[in-house]
Amino acid sequence: MSFREFNARAPIVVTMLAVVLLSLALFQGSTSSAHAAEPHTGGSSAPAETDRAPNPARGTGGASDVTKPRHRHNKTKRRGSTDRTTHRFPVAGPYSFGDAGMRFGAPRDGHSHQGQDVAASEGTPIVAPAGGSISATGYQPEGGGYYIVLSATGEDYDYVFMHLQARSTLVARDQRVRSGQRIAAVGNTGRSFGAHLHFEAWRGPWFAGGTAIDPLPLLRSWQGSSTGR
Ligand SMILES: [Zn+2]
Repeated sequence: MSFREFNARAPIVVTMLAVVLLSLALFQGSTSSAHAAEPHTGGSSAPAETDRAPNPARGTGGASDVTKPRHRHNKTKRRGSTDRTTHRFPVAGPYSFGDAGMRFGAPRDGHSHQGQDVAASEGTPIVAPAGGSISATGYQPEGGGYYIVLSATGEDYDYVFMHLQARSTLVARDQRVRSGQRIAAVGNTGRSFGAHLHFEAWRGPWFAGGTAIDPLPLLRSWQGSSTGR
């Protein structure tokens, strides 16, 4: 076509292009908003693993608690000392770290183990390894059973205790506890097979931006610090 013809048709072409681009944009907008609405519909059933931490956002009332600004960590919380002069081994009685299957990172159904299991007799006292405040308590019949989350003071750790004995929890959310204070007892609740404490250590807030780390070095550094052993 000649230049003159192109000029004559240009407005039509431009208009058509605009219409196509606009519809593409609208289409993309509608699909992306549809995707954005999906995450909460998927996977809302109970965790299918032995002792996985439940997501408090799915629970009733735990979510706001673990997203408080006090958890704006790294900068505000110092690493602090986590040695046995200030900390206590959480199981106040005979215990065992067991075999490889009880370690952090051990394979589980569809994921890896996020904590260290500490085998002990049902009813063995569990004490706070550090001073802090209780940031969550709850019950997950298909997951961690009865559990407690402790946000330690002066350090960047949340500590998580799971499969607690029924009716053994002695603390409530927002309660302050001191290092060595009894908070619960070893149990076998939730998806647990055999009495043990499932213990997690998180750098930063539990399921609210933090990361689970291998707690075994911490546990080892506290060995011998509980009165029950
Ligand atoms: Zn475990």
